Amino acid sequence: MSTGQLNTTKTSALKPAPRVAKHIFVTGGVVSSLGKGLTCAALGMLLEQHGLKVAIQKMDPYINVDPGTMNPFQHGEVYVTADGAETDLDLGHYERFTHAEINRHSNYTTGQIYNSVISKERRGDYLGACIQVIPHITNEIKDAIRAARGDADVLITEIGGTIGDIESLPFIEAIRQFGIEEGRGNCLYIHLTLLTYLRAAKELKTKPTQQSVGKLREIGIIPDILVCRTEHPMTGEIRSKLSLFCNVEPEAVIEEMDVKHSIYEVPLMLRDQGLDVSALRKLGLKSRVETPDLSAWRNVVDCAVHPQQQVEIAVVGKYIDLHDAYKSIYEALAHGGLANRADVVIRKINSDRLDSSNLDKLLGGVGGVLVPGGFGERGVEGKIAAARWAADNGIPYFGICLGMQCATIHAARHLVGLEDAYSREFDENCAAPVIDLMQAQKKVTEKGGTMRLGTYTCRVEPDSIAGRAYGTDTVRERHRHRFEYNNAYRERLVEAGLRVTGIYEEADLVEIVELEGHPWFVGVQFHPEYQSKPIEPHPLFASFIDAACTHSGTPLGVDAEISSVGATSTGDVSA
Ligand code: GLN
Repeated sequence: MSTGQLNTTKTSALKPAPRVAKHIFVTGGVVSSLGKGLTCAALGMLLEQHGLKVAIQKMDPYINVDPGTMNPFQHGEVYVTADGAETDLDLGHYERFTHAEINRHSNYTTGQIYNSVISKERRGDYLGACIQVIPHITNEIKDAIRAARGDADVLITEIGGTIGDIESLPFIEAIRQFGIEEGRGNCLYIHLTLLTYLRAAKELKTKPTQQSVGKLREIGIIPDILVCRTEHPMTGEIRSKLSLFCNVEPEAVIEEMDVKHSIYEVPLMLRDQGLDVSALRKLGLKSRVETPDLSAWRNVVDCAVHPQQQVEIAVVGKYIDLHDAYKSIYEALAHGGLANRADVVIRKINSDRLDSSNLDKLLGGVGGVLVPGGFGERGVEGKIAAARWAADNGIPYFGICLGMQCATIHAARHLVGLEDAYSREFDENCAAPVIDLMQAQKKVTEKGGTMRLGTYTCRVEPDSIAGRAYGTDTVRERHRHRFEYNNAYRERLVEAGLRVTGIYEEADLVEIVELEGHPWFVGVQFHPEYQSKPIEPHPLFASFIDAACTHSGTPLGVDAEISSVGATSTGDVSA
């Protein structure tokens, strides 16, 4: 035996026993939009409070390979991870509720799974075998699950879609096989379902849930826990019935009522229902703490439900009709509110309908204006007009990505006097392209996954609004864009009063601009909204809401209790 071999044996003998990863699979039944993402995020947060390291991932049954090229108007916002993957917006919930590391393995679509299998087949990896859903596609899915668990104690995998859909079948089959391969005791199946309420009979009905669980059983999965979304509390009788007909222990039938005020109440409610304790017990895991400390979350809910002031923020965008299209923006604004004990009311403004004639009417009275990211020319003049209005009237303005570019165009047109200032994105032959295509983008031919994506370091000028908000001179923020501030105009723009207060030094890219002499006018090329959490509001959002409250916050009485948080809005304001 060689020394090398001896050494190897010795080292492995000293290694601790390999850690067994535990898996939680969450499926949905009866209807879509039950809030599976939120339930997974809330469960993840509770498990973290038990001292466990959690990872979360989502399987999306649609065929698209690049979720980033999907229309936000149909599918909601594209969520960008730190490592630059463009993913489903549910991943935003995961990051807001937990500290799980969310990366490109946290989201897989059917399209990506098939794409990978087909590439392997064409490369000859399968040695000419006939390629089939079972085992090739299901093996690929299981590999994707294993790739996401990293060094986490528990991986929660959310299966998109509803049981019974054709599209999700390979995923369901794969998670069934997973239970056999990894050991049934290491896998927990949670089924999220709807209890339908019949108003006329004043009764909760369990049949749709029974049928949905039946569908799961057809494939060989017996759920361990049933989480029941319901508008009305479950009676003991309903619980027993569900337990009997769905073959689930009575204490594993969990009630998830609609929350009264805020989605941040969900984890607390699920804790009261014992979801975390059931999950730990069934996975054979022990809590690493005596009692989970939920005080920070209770404080979040308290701040959300009992704000001391109220402020209205105009969000000017073109996908305003779909709340999910700016999901992380609205959430981050609500977090900024939490930091200031303020209820943030959103006034949604369709940028298509905004022009110089109706600015006062549509924007008047708000405490701040936010222009979020966007693509394409439609509605862009409305956004530039909004930036100008906020600049001229001393109203706090927060421009994010395209919103920063619009602020720059405004400054170039109206402060520098470059009438033709515009972005190359909207006019290829533009005479004054103050926003231009990034150098690295000039060679790009495919749209999917090719923008400047993911986290980059930004040097922040300490003596600036951003510098004071961050309290540090180096930050890391996420990007998703093809165009950039054109340095050829930098000197003139700075001279005219648009300061550059944030730089990506390596490539000398302008990342933050601020208007001199204005109480709060900040444009950022990155997307700070992706990193905001209710327990850690993003500093720029906290500072923006603070400025908006100073500008026109309304104090609320001590006993004020608001009706809903995070989604409060006055709707689309049209001309
Ligand atoms: N369309 C702009 C660009 O590609 C802005 C992108 C964004 O707002 N995310 O640069």
